[in-house]
Amino acid sequence: MPKKRKITVAYGDGIGPEIMKATLDILYAAGAQIETDIIEIGEQVYLKGISAGIEPRAWDSLRETKVFLKAPITTPQGGGFKSLNVTTRKSLGLYANVRPCKAYAPFIKTHFPKTDLVIIRENEEDLYAGIEHRQTDEVYQCLKLISRPGSEKIVRYAFEYARKYNRKKVTCMTKDNIMKMADGIFHKVFDEVAKEYPGIETDHKIIDIGTALIADRPEMFDVIVTLNLYGDIISDVAAQVTGSVGLGGSSNVGEEVAMFEAIHGSAPDIAGMDIANPSGLLNGAVMMLVHIGQPEIAEKINNAWMKTLEDGFHTGDIYQEAISKKKVGTQEFAQAVIERL
Ligand code: NAD
Repeated sequence: MPKKRKITVAYGDGIGPEIMKATLDILYAAGAQIETDIIEIGEQVYLKGISAGIEPRAWDSLRETKVFLKAPITTPQGGGFKSLNVTTRKSLGLYANVRPCKAYAPFIKTHFPKTDLVIIRENEEDLYAGIEHRQTDEVYQCLKLISRPGSEKIVRYAFEYARKYNRKKVTCMTKDNIMKMADGIFHKVFDEVAKEYPGIETDHKIIDIGTALIADRPEMFDVIVTLNLYGDIISDVAAQVTGSVGLGGSSNVGEEVAMFEAIHGSAPDIAGMDIANPSGLLNGAVMMLVHIGQPEIAEKINNAWMKTLEDGFHTGDIYQEAISKKKVGTQEFAQAVIERL
């Protein structure tokens, strides 16, 4: 039996509390050896006037536990507020965002049943570096920052990931035909690092055609490494292609701390209705269990989750009359997974 591990947990906004409850119910039922330290983030903290959207005590918790299971939050639009997601990733040095997107055909409808790709997104630089200012009342500037060390770190992470998980190919996506220096250095570093991994096939695609190919021929991709903004966009495309944006989980990895979450947002349009798919956050939590040395429990949950999908218990976002057996809500889906553990 693994030793109990303390983790930091945030219930977030919108559908966050519903999908977090479903996820933790499954984790406890599966025997996950975790103890949670619950912190406040998101709207409730912004409303207290804390512009970073995270209570100050949270940083102590994160420094202590080094593992963060986070539900999505609503980022206030416009000035005055910082994106908590960006702040967390930057403050904790979470440089690699890993987003697997896999088809579960025939149980979940997709046009591309063999899709099984992993997007490795640079997580600290690019247009998310936070350098944005007003030039005049009518002109605003946001600077794109790409560094050689940052590029090298994420590209090497992608090749090491491919090696560890026996993936055959790494594709780099940039727009270096236009941003010759910023995207150019990322592509250049990719070509250099690739030489150290002769057993792994490599490819480069300009991001626009790359995105089109993910939408139209996702089965040709294996591991994709790209810049922050492009990775953000193409991972939603890839998750949707596999059936629903509600399926994808992700890990945000740094030297010391790691954060696990769903790739989707707080879905305010369906909040409080008990209809959200908890699978994305659950898949993030499964990645967390592997990270904290509880892979057997992770596998047990993954098998029960797949069996639930195979048995046709589907939330509204993936429900299809022809293949689903029952349309279930968030908590009923969690119960169905628990029954199959
Ligand atoms: P969203 O991902 O929240 O929702 C997009 C669409 O997908 C909506 O129609 C929603 O109902 C649906 N959807 C999302 N997750 C689902 C699930 N689990 N089950 C079923 N349907 C699901 O994107 P948005 O509407 O653009 O953003 C809403 C808020 O979330 C914004 O404030 C945004 O800033 C924030 N956001 C947060 C994160 C994060 O915390 N990591 C990530 C992305 C967006």
